Amino acid sequence: MDNTFIMAGVMGWPVAHSRSPIIHNHWIRQHQLRGAYGLFPVESHNLGDAIRGLKALGLAGCNLTIPHKVAAMSYMDWVQPLAQRMGAINTIVVQADGALHGFNNDGFGYLQSLRDAQPHWRADAGPIVVLGAGGAARAIVLSLMDEGATEIRLINRTFGKAQALADEFGTPVQAFDWSERHAALAGAALLVNSTNQGMHGQPELDVQLHELPMTALVSDAIYVPLETPLLAAARQRGNATVNGLGMLLNQARPAFHAWFGVMPDIDDTLVKALTKTL
Ligand code: NAP
Repeated sequence: MDNTFIMAGVMGWPVAHSRSPIIHNHWIRQHQLRGAYGLFPVESHNLGDAIRGLKALGLAGCNLTIPHKVAAMSYMDWVQPLAQRMGAINTIVVQADGALHGFNNDGFGYLQSLRDAQPHWRADAGPIVVLGAGGAARAIVLSLMDEGATEIRLINRTFGKAQALADEFGTPVQAFDWSERHAALAGAALLVNSTNQGMHGQPELDVQLHELPMTALVSDAIYVPLETPLLAAARQRGNATVNGLGMLLNQARPAFHAWFGVMPDIDDTLVKALTKTL
């Protein structure tokens, strides 16, 4: 019998709010593995020491959350090309020889959450509107591009950031001014909120859905609350919706696979356990 005890965790500051331990420890129990997933409160000035400590402590790796997703890249021996394009990593996997490999699974999680909701969903079904141009938007836009999206209308409160992303990513991304956010929904097949507006403690997202086709899928990266005012408005007018919980759950799956050797599934018990904390 293999007696290896496998440890992983999440580094962040603050980190106490992270739901990742609920997810990974559920899968550890479900698959009867010997291991644990913990919370590592790491301040920015300690990040280098903490990451080097992964190997010294014999950890399988870790997740990274705010504010470490960008800074952690510089300590990697290798970074997945997709994560390089995203400019951030959310997962470190310690290799057998001690080398540190960096990955970003947020885009995978986002696409998978759409497919879980609509198995026949396609990125090339029509124009996509993405609101926001921060870290979540980078991951979402790149993964939609790699999936074959033909037209992505990127709209951000600070226009310069949307323009910079459009310049960096090229076709099919086009930047629009924030004032055009209502009209830009015309003909869209997918609307994505990747701003923090509508999150618990924030004002709701100021966007009117009149122009949005009833066939459009509406998704929000936010998962607290599970149904943002945007998703509630979309549901009430008859659009299909996807909340941010699926993105969170699905981004964890490839990391768990890399550390524990099992590709886990998302079951009702896990969704219920997580939902109770939201
Ligand atoms: P970020 O990098 O700080 O970006 C925040 C975005 O929100 C920027 O585009 C910002 O626009 C916009 N914004 C802020 N205040 C606004 C306002 N008053 N009106 C309009 N836009 C405003 O944050 P992030 O990491 O991308 O995260 C964004 C959201 O995604 C958060 O709610 C986070 O919880 C969620 N998220 C979810 C997952 C998941 O797994 N489900 C993963 C990552 C993130 P400016 O450029 O103008 O400031």
